[in-house]
Amino acid sequence: MVKGIIFDYNRTLFDPVNKSLIPGAKEVLDNLSQNGFKIALMSRTSDKTKRMEQIHRIGIMDNFSHIQLIQKDTEDKGFHHLKACADKMSLPASELAVVGDRVRSEIRLGKKLDMLTIWYKAGKYSDEMPMAEDEAPHHTITQLGEVIRIVRD
Ligand SMILES: [Mg+2]
Repeated sequence: MVKGIIFDYNRTLFDPVNKSLIPGAKEVLDNLSQNGFKIALMSRTSDKTKRMEQIHRIGIMDNFSHIQLIQKDTEDKGFHHLKACADKMSLPASELAVVGDRVRSEIRLGKKLDMLTIWYKAGKYSDEMPMAEDEAPHHTITQLGEVIRIVRD
């Protein structure tokens, strides 16, 4: 049973082109929070201070029990970042879901760690298809709201 969800930031919750939340993102986060799910955010950025300010400005800071920032210039998203989220959430991988827009990043990492993986197939990377079984998501969605049904099942 899923008790926690780790969200990718850019192009999953936040639209970096329009510099605003993806439609429905706040409602999904609030719904999950109200239903007792722990939520973490994982974001790769070249400026951690600015990213935190942005997360605050768009009004989703309070939805997360943990925010994992990854230094863009020196690091790729890795297994240890997902593990760090799990540790901070005090949840085993078997009770965690990962939501992201890239099968080669969040989905591949989440699958390797035996988390439930949800591909938000929208925007820039929606045509970047899984190249192998280890990139194939458990669920594919085109509306963020679908996360709620999946994690409550
Ligand atoms: Mg992304």
